[in-house]
Amino acid sequence: APGLYLVATPIGNLEDITLRALRILRSADRIACEDTRQTQKLLNHFGITTPTVSYHLHNERGRSEELVNALREGARIAVVSDAGMPGIADPGEEIVRAAVEANIAVYPVPGANAVLSALTASGLPTEQFAFHGFLPSKAGERRTVLESLRETLKSAEESATQIFYETPHRIAEALVDVEAVFGPQHPIAVARELTKLHEEFLRGTASEVRSTVQSREGIRGEMVLLISGKLLSEQNESSASLAEQVRRLIGNG
Ligand code: SAM
Repeated sequence: APGLYLVATPIGNLEDITLRALRILRSADRIACEDTRQTQKLLNHFGITTPTVSYHLHNERGRSEELVNALREGARIAVVSDAGMPGIADPGEEIVRAAVEANIAVYPVPGANAVLSALTASGLPTEQFAFHGFLPSKAGERRTVLESLRETLKSAEESATQIFYETPHRIAEALVDVEAVFGPQHPIAVARELTKLHEEFLRGTASEVRSTVQSREGIRGEMVLLISGKLLSEQNESSASLAEQVRRLIGNG
């Protein structure tokens, strides 16, 4: 059917493309890509020859108009980003809004996504979660965001697991802030290189995960940071750190 297809692509492992995604990419009139060169590699791998057009943050608005005009004339257009679900920390939102406003059908074609993959295997509660995109790169702003999150969790009835995308060169300093704001005993996880050869989950307390990451100078790869939404009560926090001190004193820590 004509319309706009939001097609998920792999976040590492090419086997994570779905049969439906392949069929739609093959049969679409055009594929609107975040980066045509990146998507071309994927298309070549699967022998797909559909024409591509670039569609990214910097031309999102102008291109949306053009694509909506084609959609009005009955085109089938697939939207893809470099990896995962379009629109999740990636371009996509603008074209969807334009299509919805123009009364054009929008079809999600689900597949790989870093947030859900990290969350479901993290060992942290999955019932409720909040995804915040990337943490601010400036140290001061990052602290403020984490502190206000902690305040929100303190006053809220819910305890959603908090999820961020993070880059390898900022993960160590981000973890220092997480430990400072949530406390050394707070449960967190870092999911790295999901679906790839060196996939890894670092699970533990804020202090443990921070120290592991710091000990691996030049840690690489794409990563997701997850913070438990259950605040340790002030009392638990101090008794936990007391227990820690005792363990150290008796040389067991
Ligand atoms: N649209 C994508 C999705 O659905 O997951 C996210 C795109 S966002 C620009 C890229 C960020 O997602 C990376 O910096 C990293 O935080 C996370 N990410 C993407 N692929 C990943 C992977 N294989 N392992 C861990 N994190 C990943």
